[in-house]
Amino acid sequence: MTQIEVVRGDITKLQVDAIVNAANTSLLGGGGVDGAIHRAAGMELLRACERLGGCLTGSAKVTPGFELPAEWVFHAVGPVWNGGTHGEDTKLEGCYSRCMELAREYDVKSIAFPAISTGVYHFPRQRAARIAVTTVNNQLEASNLERVIFCCFDEMTAEIYTRLLRNHRI
Ligand code: ADP
Repeated sequence: MTQIEVVRGDITKLQVDAIVNAANTSLLGGGGVDGAIHRAAGMELLRACERLGGCLTGSAKVTPGFELPAEWVFHAVGPVWNGGTHGEDTKLEGCYSRCMELAREYDVKSIAFPAISTGVYHFPRQRAARIAVTTVNNQLEASNLERVIFCCFDEMTAEIYTRLLRNHRI
């Protein structure tokens, strides 16, 4: 049985096998959680990202965590919200889905996700959280994960996830 938790705080501090980054297509760093991860991981992370050659929206690529407590960073590129009729839901689902595949490939036992796309990309928080919880839940059985953390930076996002998880009974 996988333990699912909502943790309020900074994802860069979490002692898990993999943390997920809300990156952009360049993978070369940015603001928000991306900036925090690059600052905490050190310059080697940027050099590793430079070698990846970018990433498509709705997918993810892997680097080591370098100076982070986490062993791996899964750099997921969420969609920019553009009214909801431009495939945003499918692309966001793709991020979580790809990260769950990577968790299997890298034999990750614990993973922490931020609320991808809900910062400067303006994806509505409730809708994004529903996609996150549903997608992760659908792939849990096929995974080796013992612990999944939804890491929320603000109280409102944490409340949304807590409510959703209660209703999902997972
Ligand atoms: P995006 O460009 O995908 O919207 P942001 O980094 O702007 O990415 O925001 C995504 C989410 O990550 C937001 O809910 C934001 O509050 C949150 N966030 C920002 N910094 C951190 C952090 N250090 N740890 C966890 N979550 C964070």
